[in-house]
Amino acid sequence: MAVFVFIEHREGKLMDISFEALSAAQKLNDEVIAVLSGENVGDLAEKVVKYADKVIVVDDPKIDTNNEAYTRVLDELIKKEMPKVVIMGHTSMGMDIAPAVAIDLGLPIATDVVKISKDGNIKVTRSIHNGKVLADYYLKDAETYIITIRTGEFSAEELSEKNGKIERVDSPLKEEITNKKFVGFVQPEVGGVDITQADILVSVGRGIKDKENIPLVEELAKIMGGVLSCSRPIVDYGWLPKERQVGTSGKTVKPKLYLALGISGAFQHVAGMKGANMIVAVNKDPKAPIFSVAQYGIVDDVLKVIPALTQKIKEIKG
Ligand SMILES: Cc1cc2nc3c(=O)[nH]c(=O)nc-3n(C[C@H](O)[C@H](O)[C@H](O)COP(=O)(O)OP(=O)(O)OC[C@H]3O[C@@H](n4cnc5c(N)ncnc54)[C@H](O)[C@@H]3O)c2cc1C
Repeated sequence: MAVFVFIEHREGKLMDISFEALSAAQKLNDEVIAVLSGENVGDLAEKVVKYADKVIVVDDPKIDTNNEAYTRVLDELIKKEMPKVVIMGHTSMGMDIAPAVAIDLGLPIATDVVKISKDGNIKVTRSIHNGKVLADYYLKDAETYIITIRTGEFSAEELSEKNGKIERVDSPLKEEITNKKFVGFVQPEVGGVDITQADILVSVGRGIKDKENIPLVEELAKIMGGVLSCSRPIVDYGWLPKERQVGTSGKTVKPKLYLALGISGAFQHVAGMKGANMIVAVNKDPKAPIFSVAQYGIVDDVLKVIPALTQKIKEIKG
């Protein structure tokens, strides 16, 4: 049984999710075949092959960062190689390509998966009800399954080296894709503060209730020698700038300490901060999903805890 892994890359660099997908594939203990397609991707194959039994390289300028082209190439490779499973990231790219492949080839698909195992049949786990429930699903019998994995759930650090072979194949794409065109990649502007570099992040969520309470958190961050970050609603309300947002549509951070204040722990947020060495959460709801990733938790009102913490640290510091 072979497991395909769709490799994501951008501007000549492999995306982290590609290594996470390779890690997920290795857990199935079968032949891992990475699919690397695009323009001038030869150099990237050397890095991927370290963790795969085989890398199939399709180098074709017609693919040119066009998801429809990637889809058609993947369709043809699946028809030819008949892998049992195809794994890719639940990223904007994966969310575009995976369902299209499933429809083209009439294959079952499981999206946003946090765990994959083989228990006779392929079993996947998805986190539902805003992270409060983990549900197991068996996929119905099929030649091939398409699976997209949630960012940050499979650790690239658990990858074992395979050092397989690189196989270059002719592009199955016979003509240019004309109905969709890649125009250009726009990098978000880098602001004054880079939360990805901070050792201590004091992060605030909707539980803070009002913009007028943000200075309380700023004061705490300052006295802790930390940097202020936030969940997405805080940015949506315009209370803090986008550069402070942690999560799938914000930044991925790995501080030594992450203090989550009034943040529920939605997966889009957790995916961006679960790599922190130490997570401390304050939330008035003892069932808030943030507590399942936190090492320490305080169940209380942030508006009581923040001034008390600030006061205590001031006392300790003298
Ligand atoms: C495509 C997409 C991308 C997204 N990207 C991101 C992203 O990058 N980052 C991100 O953060 N979110 C993202 N989201 C939004 C995400 O789904 C959640 O809605 C968001 O993370 C919730 O933010 P929150 O925890 O601050 O607010 P809420 O979910 O409203 O949680 C507030 C929490 O505060 C607690 N609380 C309330 N009052 C108090 C109090 N007085 N004291 C203590 N606790 C209190 C509540 O119990 C609750 O747990 C994305 C969503 C989508 C659809």
